[in-house]
Amino acid sequence: MTAIIDDKKILQELENASKDQAKVKEVLAKGRELKGLSLSEVAVLSNINDPDLVQELFETANHVKEEIYGNRLVIFAPLYISNLCSNECSYCAFRAGNQAINRRVLTQEEIAEETRILVESGHKRVLMVAGEAYPKQGFDYVLDSIDTIYSVQDEHGGSIRRINVNVAPLTVDEFKQLKDKKIGTYQIFQETYHREVYSKVHLRGKKADFDWRVTAIDRAMEAGIDDCGVGVLFGLAEWKYEILALMQHIYYLEDKFGVGPHTISVPRMEFATGSDISEHPPAEVSDEDFLKIVAILRIAVPYTGIIMSTREGPQLRGRTLDLGVSQISAGSRTNPGGYAVDHEDMSQFSLGDHRSLDEVIRDIAQKGYIPSFCTGCYRLGRTGEDFMDLAKPGLIKQHCGPNAASSFMEFLRDYASPETKKVGMEAMEKFISEMSLKDADTSRKMVDKVMHGKNDIYI
Ligand code: SAM
Ligand code: SF4
Repeated sequence: MTAIIDDKKILQELENASKDQAKVKEVLAKGRELKGLSLSEVAVLSNINDPDLVQELFETANHVKEEIYGNRLVIFAPLYISNLCSNECSYCAFRAGNQAINRRVLTQEEIAEETRILVESGHKRVLMVAGEAYPKQGFDYVLDSIDTIYSVQDEHGGSIRRINVNVAPLTVDEFKQLKDKKIGTYQIFQETYHREVYSKVHLRGKKADFDWRVTAIDRAMEAGIDDCGVGVLFGLAEWKYEILALMQHIYYLEDKFGVGPHTISVPRMEFATGSDISEHPPAEVSDEDFLKIVAILRIAVPYTGIIMSTREGPQLRGRTLDLGVSQISAGSRTNPGGYAVDHEDMSQFSLGDHRSLDEVIRDIAQKGYIPSFCTGCYRLGRTGEDFMDLAKPGLIKQHCGPNAASSFMEFLRDYASPETKKVGMEAMEKFISEMSLKDADTSRKMVDKVMHGKNDIYI
């Protein structure tokens, strides 16, 4: 039994949270200071129902987003290497007992082919994903797959420069091996922080052990992986409970390791083949509440990236950008081998956004965002506490702006359709012209190098 989640305290905070307008406004005013919020303040925000206050909540989240992230948006694609799994998570199509999907473990050649397709569409960052079972080579399969992904280069010299990894919890020793492969973020979602609900939906396999999962980031940090991502699968337990528990997990990590998570993911349950529960999530989250979740998290943990996947449709994804999402996936498939041939009968869950990377880029550039393919920080060792030391006084912007511009220019130069290139160049010019003189000068020099054929320019 770990002390990370204090169930009683969560229920007490939710029960006692003030609904008084003045109190809500006080918490929102504190949120604007970009210093984050306490558990009781998060509880106050989670109780907002009045439409005017909801609007103020959204405006505050937008303010925090503007101050810290501006209009940069990091882009990535998931890369599913295997859908084999020994667990029985009732919401997932990959669960061991599901006969309704076909199983596939990609060979290293097939992983290279998937990577090549992603690189040739312009991606620089992937999230490698797998079910929890690697029967033949064991954990080496995961390690070899990382080498394979990093080894692929296309005709423009493009390659995947950052691999984030979402695999089942590991031992400290395995995490050390993962770190040695130079991964970016290690990502793991608790799914639900509510123990009772957790045991009802994780029926068999190692994942049934709540404590082994909730302590995974402790082991990753002990192994030296200090960029970690957390998340909740919304739809399993009441969302207010989940975000307070998530906050407890974050405070615990900050307290113990001096740094909280690098990212938070907010997957919402989607239909999965062979999963009854996915058709009727026990604690379904409405679109309106989903937007509140994003806004509250943005204000509560201002310096932690928020990730939005293609589970959600284009319209809702668009709305979450203004509320603080800082990373999105694009052009995704959730079945192993899906970039080469899209076999829906192997997918983990249904997608809400089916657009190509080029279409997503054009859309977000039209909305005034700058897609960033930057991978500078972790390659220069700006991870964990070092990253936060730069982020909190606002210094990271001096790197992120120019890096976003140069990495976006690589995309426009080599991979964009003519229409996207036109929209993108306009967005780029506007982006740079709104920077400080010094940052604009740095950006122009970097972009110029890219336009003259140089790759991978970052500071
Ligand atoms: N198998 C590993 C695990 O469970 O940690 C890693 C990858 S798992 C394929 C990635 C995530 O997909 C899970 O953590 C879960 O949150 C999410 N997921 C599973 N079923 C889903 C569904 N029906 N809708 C949306 N997300 C789902
Ligand atoms: Fe396996 Fe992960 Fe799906 Fe659970 S969520 S069945 S562990 S792939």
